[in-house]
Amino acid sequence: MNDSTTESYELLIVGGGVAGLTAATFTARAGLSTLVVDHGESILRRNAHLENFPGFPAGVNPRLFADMLHAQATQNGADYQQGLVDGLSGSLEDGFVATVGAVSDETASHEIHADRVLVASWADASYLDGLGVEIRDTGSKQYVDDDGLGRTNVEGLYAAGRIAERYHQAVIAAGDGAETAITLIHDSETPFYNDWVVPEGYFTDRGREVPPGCEEIDATDQQARQAASRAAMQEYFAEPHDQRQRTHPSLVDDAKGRVDWGSSDSQ
Ligand SMILES: Cc1cc2nc3c(=O)[nH]c(=O)nc-3n(C[C@H](O)[C@H](O)[C@H](O)COP(=O)(O)OP(=O)(O)OC[C@H]3O[C@@H](n4cnc5c(N)ncnc54)[C@H](O)[C@@H]3O)c2cc1C
Repeated sequence: MNDSTTESYELLIVGGGVAGLTAATFTARAGLSTLVVDHGESILRRNAHLENFPGFPAGVNPRLFADMLHAQATQNGADYQQGLVDGLSGSLEDGFVATVGAVSDETASHEIHADRVLVASWADASYLDGLGVEIRDTGSKQYVDDDGLGRTNVEGLYAAGRIAERYHQAVIAAGDGAETAITLIHDSETPFYNDWVVPEGYFTDRGREVPPGCEEIDATDQQARQAASRAAMQEYFAEPHDQRQRTHPSLVDDAKGRVDWGSSDSQ
């Protein structure tokens, strides 16, 4: 099936795992129109209980955590599509064009146009063939070279997380996604940006303008946001997460690599 519809974004993020969704939260909040295309198989979903991510002293179900990252990115304005990017061409000057393969018989393969691309996918860079990006090939894995802040040798193309060969912890992937996103924001037309929410008067009472990307909120707004946050977190944690534990795909026959524990309580 083919679809001639063209979608255009300022930023395409390939991969909606920890690095990609964190990057999307930052770029969407900075006002860049952002699309995340994700195949839906973050390796974090194989973790049994996430205990070393800051802010969760008792740990957190990794599948719930992944869902919360997704909600944070989309609630801040990023679009999300399920799909596998199987080709990428173009340049910063002419724009990038990604091809997204059909994920099922009901969906079509299609093209996405983007001014910039941030890759945060698995360590398989075959879809980048032809772009001239510097790759380190270890045999089983291919990593994209970057300048340490996420910029590759191809202008307009950035890399974060596993594909950039970062350490294998979720907090590192999240931090790297954020750092790469901020690098990209600085490189784009978007004015300098900090993404801070501060109490009313923090800047203005000192005679300063609120800097781009920052927000001053008054006590009423602060209380409303904190009430909404408490309600959302209570809802997230009210019930056990319903997605079953994932394990290494080589360990089970199920094509999706799932273990059937029999009940959603046994996550
Ligand atoms: C069994 C296991 C246990 C772990 N336990 C912990 C732990 O306890 N603590 C911890 O900190 N870390 C843990 N990790 C590591 C953690 O999961 C990773 O560091 C983190 O998920 C890396 O984030 P990422 O965004 O780089 O990759 P991922 O989270 O894997 O995201 C990559 C995403 O890109 C998508 N994708 C790939 N190719 C394409 C494409 N061509 N087009 C579109 N989408 C694509 C994938 O479907 C995936 O959703 C564990 C990992 C495993 C495997």
